[in-house]
Amino acid sequence: MCGIFAYSWRRKDADSILLHGLERLEYRGYDSAGITVGNDAHVVETFKAVGKVSALVKEVSKKRPSDAFYQFGIAHTRWATHGGVTVENTHPHSDVENRLFLVHNGIVENHSDLAERLSSAGVSFYGQTDSEVVAKLIGKETAARLRTGSPDSLLEGVEAVLPRLEGAYALVIMHADLPGELIGVKYGSPLVFGRDTKTGDSFFASDVQALAGYADQVTFLDDGDLVRIKPDGTYEIRSEGFLVSRPFERVETEHLKTEKGNFEHFMLKEIFEQPKIMKAVFQGRVDFEHLALNAAAFQDLRDIDIERVKFIACWTSYHAGWAGAYAFREYAGMSATVEIASEFLNSPVRVDPKILYVFVSQSGETADAIEPLKFIKEHGGKTFGIVNVVGSSISRLTDFGLFTRAGTEVGVASTKAFTAQLAVVTLLALFYAIKRGEDFRKYRSALNDLAKLPEVLQSVLSSSGEIAEVAKELAKRPHLFFLWRGSMLPIAAEAALKFKEITYLHAQSMPLGELKHGTLALIEESCPSVVFLPDDALFAQNQSSISEIQARWGKVLAISAKPVQNADWNLVLPSAPGLTFAFAATVAGQLLAYHAALELGREIDRPRNLAKSVTVK
Ligand code: GLU
Repeated sequence: MCGIFAYSWRRKDADSILLHGLERLEYRGYDSAGITVGNDAHVVETFKAVGKVSALVKEVSKKRPSDAFYQFGIAHTRWATHGGVTVENTHPHSDVENRLFLVHNGIVENHSDLAERLSSAGVSFYGQTDSEVVAKLIGKETAARLRTGSPDSLLEGVEAVLPRLEGAYALVIMHADLPGELIGVKYGSPLVFGRDTKTGDSFFASDVQALAGYADQVTFLDDGDLVRIKPDGTYEIRSEGFLVSRPFERVETEHLKTEKGNFEHFMLKEIFEQPKIMKAVFQGRVDFEHLALNAAAFQDLRDIDIERVKFIACWTSYHAGWAGAYAFREYAGMSATVEIASEFLNSPVRVDPKILYVFVSQSGETADAIEPLKFIKEHGGKTFGIVNVVGSSISRLTDFGLFTRAGTEVGVASTKAFTAQLAVVTLLALFYAIKRGEDFRKYRSALNDLAKLPEVLQSVLSSSGEIAEVAKELAKRPHLFFLWRGSMLPIAAEAALKFKEITYLHAQSMPLGELKHGTLALIEESCPSVVFLPDDALFAQNQSSISEIQARWGKVLAISAKPVQNADWNLVLPSAPGLTFAFAATVAGQLLAYHAALELGREIDRPRNLAKSVTVK
């Protein structure tokens, strides 16, 4: 969701650097893009386009004067929250004099009040965004200070406005008459500051991977941080007005490995990476030879005393949390629940020191999860993060955590990151099974299953062609049910979500036993069902439910661990014993969604209205 990229100073092709930075941020999801660039002759130029970064690239090459040179600038991919998807509302936004420019990620909640006050002072707006209001405000304050000749005009202008803003924001601001100077501010939305230590160039970006190859050192800013890049190439970081220093880290070149290779889409490539990722998740954490967890990997948790677990997350990660709650009950005999992060604070909350609050997030920047996380911390709760992006806000805010190690996920609809989350929540539950002295045989048999995961997932991937055939059939129908009993709940819910996200068809996950309490009315030939059948005690019951659906002319795809005689289509995953079935069925669900979306000609890697890193509430 929304991408910020900014560059200063001296190179003559700032526009190309910014456009390339935006291309790297495209995976986050957005609906329009723009850049403002300037040079030491006080010339500034803004280019904007609705739609893809490729449209912006065309716009720049059409309108950019051939002899122009640009030495610094700011860039943005917008995921509209306030105001339609129009060129006017596309960032960067400017002040009334068209000299100050700003990009913003987040939502300024009191923008209407601020705009009203500006309007009554005679300021008019060209668009409807909250961000433009901030640009007008900072522009006004900065202009007043420039007239006094203050060398710190931009800094003082920004500092005068920040206390008036309510909500979440990452901002980067530039001024035509202060060439080379950039101010970046982080409060609630992500912002990374990077330096090329060889040239002294500076960068801002919404995530570190956009900076690979440009900056060799980065620092993940804290909420309340303000970074000022000065024209002489030096910089200062302030927090609450005081100068502070922040630790810098090297940028890993792993971030550069975001190529599609021979795959048609990133999503397909990432689905096929899953056997390898399972190995990475377990590396150093599980000793498969001795069927035991490595104590060192869970060291932090050994001495903390908890009785219950609560997972808090948003949709896909919420499904992983749900699977985690099942695993805790199954293996550790502990009470475990899952809550939707965006709803967590909407009813009274009592933070309990006996609960471990586990936050699951691919990006680690999910605004809806960060808010309850901060609340729980403030009230003395113990927090644990299961996060993919190293250095992200949730990974830094939580007391303990395990990274999912899925690598960079470019496809907006999550696949490998989800499967890695499933593996990590299972490990966490198994750690507590041992810590509490639960059934040792069950624990060893679970680890024995996990050892087979790379091989099991590989065998599901080899059925991709078979899955594509059924997917073509399902893609012809407007509605679809994903049905489950028991522990298949999160797997079916995630399969339905994946299907909706990329096919834009309606898919609903339902407990099989509840069909007869109302929803059977929807079953007819045009509404097929996907039923998940692991080889467990519920198999026969699940099979009978299939007959009930078929009696109403509903067609059924059974995804099962052994053959289902009465299914219309049957995808048998025979080599997925016990615990591995949930993972295998997940991959089957991903391939089903992928092939159906392909059949429908959808934009698979960047489905409409979906953002990768949801940094607004
Ligand atoms: N709220 C701002 C807008 O609607 C910024 C959205 C974003 O983060 O992309 O333009």
